[in-house]
Amino acid sequence: MEQGLDNDRGRVRVNEKMETNLPGIFAIGDLVHGAGLAHVAYMEGEFAADNAMGHEAIMDYNVVPNPIYTFPKLRLSG
Ligand SMILES: Cc1cc2nc3c(=O)[nH]c(=O)nc-3n(C[C@H](O)[C@H](O)[C@H](O)COP(=O)(O)OP(=O)(O)OC[C@H]3O[C@@H](n4cnc5c(N)ncnc54)[C@H](O)[C@@H]3O)c2cc1C
Repeated sequence: MEQGLDNDRGRVRVNEKMETNLPGIFAIGDLVHGAGLAHVAYMEGEFAADNAMGHEAIMDYNVVPNPIYTFPKLRLSG
């Protein structure tokens, strides 16, 4: 029987190397449960490519910056 991609609440399940349950198949960006941000998708793509090439790259979402956009601009003194 053919095996499909694991589904995690509507997204493709991946490990910290961005690899799916199918060895050698990677998923990134809005396909997976990540931060849902363009720059994070870009990094996930780089990490997936690194791992696909046999390097070891572990995605760490703790270092993703969380900016807040305000109008008017918020200016911190100092
Ligand atoms: C309204 C809106 C505002 C956003 N604002 C921000 C923001 O300010 N900052 C931020 O960081 N993120 C923002 N995001 C999120 C960001 O756009 C996504 O997280 C990011 O684009 C995900 O990248 P991706 O490569 O997974 O998907 P996408 O960028 O959607 O790329 C998927 C690509 O696959 C193509 N495609 C789809 N189906 C097929 C097919 N069958 N065959 C071939 N190609 C196909 C699509 O045309 C598309 O080009 C926003 C998203 C939305 C919807």
